[in-house]
Amino acid sequence: MNNTSTRVGVIGAGLMGSGIAEVCARNGCEVISYEISPDALDAGRHRIESSLQRALTKNKISDDELAETLARIRYTGDLDELHDREFVFEAIVESEPEKLDVFARLDKVVSDPNAVLASNTSSIPIMKLAMATANPERVVGVHYFNPVPVLPLVELVSSLLTSEATASKAGAFAADVLGKTVIRSQDRAGFIVNALLIPYILSAVRLLDSGFASAEDIDNGMVLGCAHPMGPLRLADLIGLDTVQAIAEAMYEEFKEQLYYAPPFLLRMVEAGLLGRKTGRGFYDYRSKAA
Ligand code: NAD
Repeated sequence: MNNTSTRVGVIGAGLMGSGIAEVCARNGCEVISYEISPDALDAGRHRIESSLQRALTKNKISDDELAETLARIRYTGDLDELHDREFVFEAIVESEPEKLDVFARLDKVVSDPNAVLASNTSSIPIMKLAMATANPERVVGVHYFNPVPVLPLVELVSSLLTSEATASKAGAFAADVLGKTVIRSQDRAGFIVNALLIPYILSAVRLLDSGFASAEDIDNGMVLGCAHPMGPLRLADLIGLDTVQAIAEAMYEEFKEQLYYAPPFLLRMVEAGLLGRKTGRGFYDYRSKAA
């Protein structure tokens, strides 16, 4: 696939949207990053610039590559600017009503009938998002992992109405342009990875809440005993506890199984704004250098 001029739009510039915009631009795409407010747009721009600076410091990119990457990303608060996109990746908050609204609007804005409208949702069935559009065949799930510039996996999720052309195009883009490894999942809430990961994280929250063990001991158990790179509570902090809650609720809604039920302790953390790394505090405190 010729990536030099691929026109990509990314909706949302939070943790994931900024990472998706960055990897697309690093791989030669011409990217428009859209956000709901000027402050969120600035935060996204800052996140991308900091990430590229870190890559420069680690000699993963050169000064020229950094400048070229930044030059390939345009920022906007006007969704209409995405009218000519070939690929749009939606990465807004994990909220079904908000995503439905975005897909309905995107479908009207993006003119190319062969354009791919992809969602990075972790748990909302792609079929629901597709039905908000008049062209469900061009809607597909492309689920990246956090941090997007580092983790090599993408889950590709077709709904019952996604065309094979759309799925192939999205899979080829992720593999050939971005260099990701693509796995395919059925359109069930949580897909493959979160179907396994979320019950595991929720179990760790329940262990902590019951006084069974400290956060450090739970995490050390999995890091040192199972060779996981990160324990479940630190991972929850990295994902964002609001996102963990939203994914758990979507999976509970889909399967009605107790193992997906978000425990009250997690809800209280979210209500308190203790969302993890992104707010400076979650199960750990990131405001001090030691965390
Ligand atoms: P986040 O809270 O960091 O960012 C969400 C962004 O969406 C915010 O910047 C917000 O301003 C923006 N936004 C909200 N409504 C919008 C709208 N209508 N239009 C444009 N922008 C809007 O969340 P995140 O962690 O980046 O998650 C985004 C999506 O990616 C979710 O669907 C989540 O489930 C999924 N995801 C998250 C992770 C993770 O580890 N955090 C991993 C894989 C997938």
